[in-house]
Amino acid sequence: MASPLPFAHPADLVRADQKDDHCRAELRTLLLETSEELLGGHAARWQGALQVLGDASYAWATAAAGSSLGEEYSELLLVENLRPAGRFRRLLAAALNAVLVNGNWGEWLMLFLRLHLALFYLFGRYRHLPERLLNLRAVSLAERPYRSFSYRPLGFVLLAQAIGQLLAKILQRRSGADVADTETLQAAMGNWAPALPQSRLSAGRPPRCNICAGEKCGLFGGGELSLGSRRIMRVHVLDYDTPEGAKRLRSKALILTAPSYVTASLLKEVCPAAASALEGIRYPRVAAVTVEYPKSAFREPDHGKGIVNGFGQLHPRSQGIRTLGTIYSSSLFPNRMPDDDKIMLLHYIGGARDPELFGGIQGLTEGQLVEATHKDTVETMLHPSEASNLPKALGVRVWDRAIPQLEVGHQDRLDTVKKSLGIEGVEGLYLAGNFVGGVALGRCVEFGIEIATEVVDFVNEVKIKEPA
Ligand SMILES: Cc1cc2nc3c(=O)[nH]c(=O)nc-3n(C[C@H](O)[C@H](O)[C@H](O)COP(=O)(O)OP(=O)(O)OC[C@H]3O[C@@H](n4cnc5c(N)ncnc54)[C@H](O)[C@@H]3O)c2cc1C
Repeated sequence: MASPLPFAHPADLVRADQKDDHCRAELRTLLLETSEELLGGHAARWQGALQVLGDASYAWATAAAGSSLGEEYSELLLVENLRPAGRFRRLLAAALNAVLVNGNWGEWLMLFLRLHLALFYLFGRYRHLPERLLNLRAVSLAERPYRSFSYRPLGFVLLAQAIGQLLAKILQRRSGADVADTETLQAAMGNWAPALPQSRLSAGRPPRCNICAGEKCGLFGGGELSLGSRRIMRVHVLDYDTPEGAKRLRSKALILTAPSYVTASLLKEVCPAAASALEGIRYPRVAAVTVEYPKSAFREPDHGKGIVNGFGQLHPRSQGIRTLGTIYSSSLFPNRMPDDDKIMLLHYIGGARDPELFGGIQGLTEGQLVEATHKDTVETMLHPSEASNLPKALGVRVWDRAIPQLEVGHQDRLDTVKKSLGIEGVEGLYLAGNFVGGVALGRCVEFGIEIATEVVDFVNEVKIKEPA
């Protein structure tokens, strides 16, 4: 039977689809933003489910209304055997479509869907597979429904591309190659934004191909990736404020090397439990005080190897000396003190127990810090007569949060962080820096190499999951 109304032109079908996609994305955004506000960092766990919920809500609402916003916009009517499509069929089509769009399908189905899309452009019918399966077509209610152009050339291009892909897959399978298409990996977008202060859970708007408006269109590169049996994950979406303006990067793995309190603030949204474990790490205040004395001010030490000769000295708290330790700068480093009659010392004062034992250094001026270290130097190295001769202060620098204290239970904290990130489903996030690997500078470098090796293994192992 001939339709009293003309079947819709593919251009109108594409337009309607784009409009519906846009509305669905708006709904997803709304749901995700609301969930972020209500659940904070826990929202990340529900992101995939919320997107499906958003799509399903849109399908239910439009099925109940009898037409989607896209159909209204493009003046279309969905029909089944030339009768307006029933609600049940519309819902079923929407549900099947949601399954196809949100599922994590194998490469063969993706290829099949591309072939199906090529057929749509060639013959102008059934934009989506579920519509073909349920025999749902759209007629045009527009006053001027006819168009004088065809999408057939695009259909041929897509067909050729899909066939090429098919052949490549067959050849690849025969040769057993497992080729990682790194460019495609980089182009594939994820929707999980965990890390830096400017970043937030993104609305997860997937990449779109301008030609077919498809979220999973292979033309864009966001399609299924053929990386064999590798593990699948989402990518980190990182928003940075840089001197050149805002920059967005996508990455499979992320290493955070900022101090633990900064890392905690970055992770607060994504994983509050990890953040609170990190917040417990103490960084006491320490001042570095560099001073100059005349050589004549020093006592001859008992060891007979000359004055201020060596690396330096450390002061256990049991000695009752406030200064934590002193580096003999002019002895340790060449050319540090050009005048042979002068000696340069670098004192560290402060630390975890200073507040309890000496009242803390937070209230001390630079001059008072020099005086405090001088008092100790008189006790340990100088002639008693030098007590009233303050040294020349070359530099005083206070580190409000100097070195992390790896106290009893520190490893438990780190374990908690790792476990909490795992529970939240955060993958590919690595912590490094002195609070993880150890505080000595050399150890920081070593640990950097260790963690980098781990990251390389991880990056090689996973493949990126398509945006849900
Ligand atoms: C006073 C002092 C003396 C020391 N003396 C010695 C010594 O003699 N020998 C020794 O082996 N070790 C020494 N250490 C320890 C050693 O220097 C440190 O443990 C080591 O440098 C730490 O390296 P890191 O990469 O973990 O951290 P850092 O070198 O502190 O690097 C952290 C980085 O994070 C960046 N950052 C901070 N906040 C943010 C943010 N919000 N966003 C982006 N980036 C951020 C910082 O700019 C910094 O570059 C000393 C430490 C101090 C404080």
